[in-house]
Amino acid sequence: MLLLNPGPVTLTERVRRSLLQPDLCHRESEFFALQDEIRERLLATYHLDPQVWTAVLMTGSGTAAVESMMAALVPANGRLLNFENGVYGERIAQMCAQYGIAHERAIGSWMEPITLPAAPAGFTHAAIVHHETTTGRLNDLKPVIKLCHERGMGLLVDGVSSFGAENIDFGAECLHAVAATANKCLHGVPGASFVIARRTALAKAASRTYYLDLGRLARLQEQRNTPFTPAVHAYYALVEALREFADEGGRAARYQRYAALAEQVRAGLADLGIHPVIAPEQSSVVLRSYHLPPQTPYSQLHDALKAQGFVIYAGQGDLSKMLFRISTMGAVTCADMNRLLKCFAQRG
Ligand SMILES: *Cc1c(COP(=O)(O)O)cnc(C)c1O
Repeated sequence: MLLLNPGPVTLTERVRRSLLQPDLCHRESEFFALQDEIRERLLATYHLDPQVWTAVLMTGSGTAAVESMMAALVPANGRLLNFENGVYGERIAQMCAQYGIAHERAIGSWMEPITLPAAPAGFTHAAIVHHETTTGRLNDLKPVIKLCHERGMGLLVDGVSSFGAENIDFGAECLHAVAATANKCLHGVPGASFVIARRTALAKAASRTYYLDLGRLARLQEQRNTPFTPAVHAYYALVEALREFADEGGRAARYQRYAALAEQVRAGLADLGIHPVIAPEQSSVVLRSYHLPPQTPYSQLHDALKAQGFVIYAGQGDLSKMLFRISTMGAVTCADMNRLLKCFAQRG
């Protein structure tokens, strides 16, 4: 079965085999070597300076990393402006509400780019989802970074479905942190996630949660320690996935590979009269959403493709009646996509 949903992804055999390593106690030096290598390799994916940035690992899905980042990096007297144009942007607002973080929501249409207020006042931080997986839209970080820079706001980014493939301007001083996960563009398995945090921002971290306390996780990991039992096997897979990522040419190569697959699928579906919901130049290379063909309920399309070995993904909420999504992350090839397009053509 090939997974064309936005994570977990189809594994390479190399990563799958890495799960079958010796049992490992997380209080032994072998575990800390594994943890150190993952943290170093995560920074290396974007060539980040370890003096400036640190990678904080945790056990949990991507949401755990986003929640950990949000709970820590807006201080008690801070106030956050949250840009939303999809489900994942909404989740950040829900997290802020749950933790009692002062925030305002800038809610935009899910079908439109983010519109920025001219002169937002009284905010210390802003948050945005980089690749809004709800629709496949890649939110342009450039104007957001410019605004944050001008207004003195720190920027927190949900990069769960973009980290490892899309460009992220870590050189921007206002960028404080990016949260992401093992099992999307990095091709690991679910269970490990992380926050790439600027050390100066982390130094001021608030402690609003016990398990997901980013400051504490960072402190202990720097000391080759861990507060709780990590998902050791997910870490085995992540380190192997990161080695493979480097061997394959790093982020630029992954971007190119995804871009080629996404374009192949777009062009092939266009030939069949199936068109993207978001213009390609506003979309990520990771996932695209397409209009459902007329008179075709999603379940019918899904089941027909599943019978041929492909798992596609529904739209969220009301979008399920309008669109379907195809991600080209993971161990999928050009030949696989040719076969997928043949299946689309045959369903009539
Ligand atoms: C997948 C995803 C998440 C986290 O989802 P989990 O199911 O917790 O891994 C968060 N944000 C975005 C943009 C995502 O695509």
